[in-house]
Amino acid sequence: MKKMRFSVDTLGCKINQSESDFIVKELFEKGLEPVSWSERPDFCIINTCTVTSRSDRKARQIIRKIKSQNKNSKIIVTGCFVVFNKKFLKDCDIDFIVENKDKNKIPDLIGRMAASWKDLKSFDFKSCSQFNQMHSRPLVKIQDGCEQNCTYCIVPKVRGKYRSVPYREILNKIIDLQKDGFGEVVLTGIHIGKYGVDLSTGSPGKESKISSLANLLEEVVRETSIKRIRISSIEVNEIDSRLLDILKRNNRRFASHLHIPLQSGSDRILKLMGRPYTAQYYFKKIGMISGIFPNIALTTDVMVGFPGESEEDFARTVNMIKRIAFSKIHVFKFSKRMHTLAYGMGNQVGEEIKSERSKILRSIGDRLRNSYIKNQIGELLNVVCEEMNFENSTVSGTSGNYIKVYFPMDKENFPLLKGKILGVVANSEYKNGLWGVIN
Ligand code: SF4
Repeated sequence: MKKMRFSVDTLGCKINQSESDFIVKELFEKGLEPVSWSERPDFCIINTCTVTSRSDRKARQIIRKIKSQNKNSKIIVTGCFVVFNKKFLKDCDIDFIVENKDKNKIPDLIGRMAASWKDLKSFDFKSCSQFNQMHSRPLVKIQDGCEQNCTYCIVPKVRGKYRSVPYREILNKIIDLQKDGFGEVVLTGIHIGKYGVDLSTGSPGKESKISSLANLLEEVVRETSIKRIRISSIEVNEIDSRLLDILKRNNRRFASHLHIPLQSGSDRILKLMGRPYTAQYYFKKIGMISGIFPNIALTTDVMVGFPGESEEDFARTVNMIKRIAFSKIHVFKFSKRMHTLAYGMGNQVGEEIKSERSKILRSIGDRLRNSYIKNQIGELLNVVCEEMNFENSTVSGTSGNYIKVYFPMDKENFPLLKGKILGVVANSEYKNGLWGVIN
């Protein structure tokens, strides 16, 4: 019997990736085969992003491409791009347009359409190419939605209010992953520092005993034995002493890495952005964190060219970045998003200036990253075994402190060790990270 096949293409953030992973897994369990969209599947799912104008462009391109080359497939488009682009999607004659809130119903929708799916259960999961591309550090979605309304950000409009995943569901998912042999999970969400706010204010019940991220992390440590837990990104004002205390008491269970968006080192710009902290507050909090965890990797996001950003404001950002010595910086150029407050702000910064500022920050970021990486030579790093280059028998993976580490391995061993954490002694710089040997 012919297997029904599907493809999932994902743009954007970790939350989108984790939602796509869910769709792939569910459809696979229903007996459908995951393939690439170029193999003319029966169903093509496109999970889009709209965070910048570039994301919109990419979404339009991939939708047009997949649609034009899969005339006989059912095309399903979901994700944040859907919210403000219904007309485009209708003009493209997309079969199903699915809002973010209904994304988790896609497997059932397809299951119903794939009339013969019940006969397709005998497929070998591990041999399937798309499954092998799924994360070796699985993403666990703990929360959705944002109500912070930073003035440049479209996300609250497309993701809605805070919605926390009930903690039991999260724990069960992590326990399943640990049984499947994974060493690390990455807890993701749109605004994870707000985990639990809706549970504590919701109708009283069992779930309300877990009403904060700190509570949740404590439960994850207590109720699961997953080796390593990574927090994907957290706002500086949501890192409180309780959270730091849990990380400290269980530091062997948490990745030695925090991603804390800075966005700007100028109070004036932070205020215009609607960010709820000052540069001084950020700096002090980082000092507190580094005091507790001296070797922690601190990574950040910085935006250049926000409306009104002067040379002086930019100089403050540069200064702040140098003083903190982040181990990695993601630099974004401000891009106007319709439906946001910053769209209509005066004093827009010219593209040339934005590019120049972005170049400066990227080069500082590269220098800081190189020196952070160099400092790890000689260290024993705990690395998740992620991908194998079969041509040169080299495996790459991610360390707790977020460095890409490469090491040699026999090809036969890789399938058994994929997703596991291995001790690797770093002995030199290599490509974008380090080279080492298994201890
Ligand atoms: S915290 Fe700010 S930047 Fe992040 S999703 Fe919410 S509104 Fe957007």
